[in-house]
Amino acid sequence: MNAGQKRMPVLFVGHGNPMNAIEQNAFHQSWEKLGQALPRPGAVLCISAHWETDGVAVTAASRPETIHDFYGFPRALFDVQYPAPGEPGLARRTAALLADYDVRLDAERGLDHGVWSVLAPMYPEADIPVVQLSLDSRRPGDFHYRLGKALGPLRDEGVLIVASGNIVHNLRLLNYRDPTPPAWALEADAAIRSRIGARDHDALINYEALGPAVKQGIPTNEHYLPLLYALGLQQDNDVLSFFNTSVWGSISMSSVILTPGDSA
Ligand code: ZN
Repeated sequence: MNAGQKRMPVLFVGHGNPMNAIEQNAFHQSWEKLGQALPRPGAVLCISAHWETDGVAVTAASRPETIHDFYGFPRALFDVQYPAPGEPGLARRTAALLADYDVRLDAERGLDHGVWSVLAPMYPEADIPVVQLSLDSRRPGDFHYRLGKALGPLRDEGVLIVASGNIVHNLRLLNYRDPTPPAWALEADAAIRSRIGARDHDALINYEALGPAVKQGIPTNEHYLPLLYALGLQQDNDVLSFFNTSVWGSISMSSVILTPGDSA
């Protein structure tokens, strides 16, 4: 820990539609405000729904490319470049903290849209180094929670950890023409948020047991699992608050920020 360095907050951000990266909507604006309000990090470590791997990897390129990992969107979204530098030193530090999990360095991989759609509004100058940790989504909830916990020291080293997904995410049942949320999506979002508020991490790690609405809201786990990293990082003196608590069709944008309390 650097002398006098204050512990950094932790974010779980619901990223939703990739268009949020360039549309001046309420989500985009909330991310802009967040970037201005948070203490300026020395680097960002991101865990996104959109880099699933067999085993765990961390980006180690000094110039990670911008990956446009979607189709059917306007040209303007494919034109977005987010040229934030990487930080191989942070990649190695991350792998060392996760030594028990045999994390490999990936010098080729760039940043996916789960990362840059949020960070471009937050840090439009792209002048803060970004490293991304992959998601071994075949692993159970407690694996991801433990990895999050093991990343804790980074908060005292000026690193902002941003987990990016959506706690309710069912694209198959999404009706783009009518974003009115179905009852089960609202119920699943509320059920998960109430457990987050109660710090009932066991229930959230074992989310499959939370009932049919949650089951429908999390048909695949890749957008949910990033939340468990943020929860694993939660300290006793963190103040937890929600933002962007809205459900857009079958996607919940509900997001969480953990802010160190005075005694941190
Ligand atoms: Zn996504």
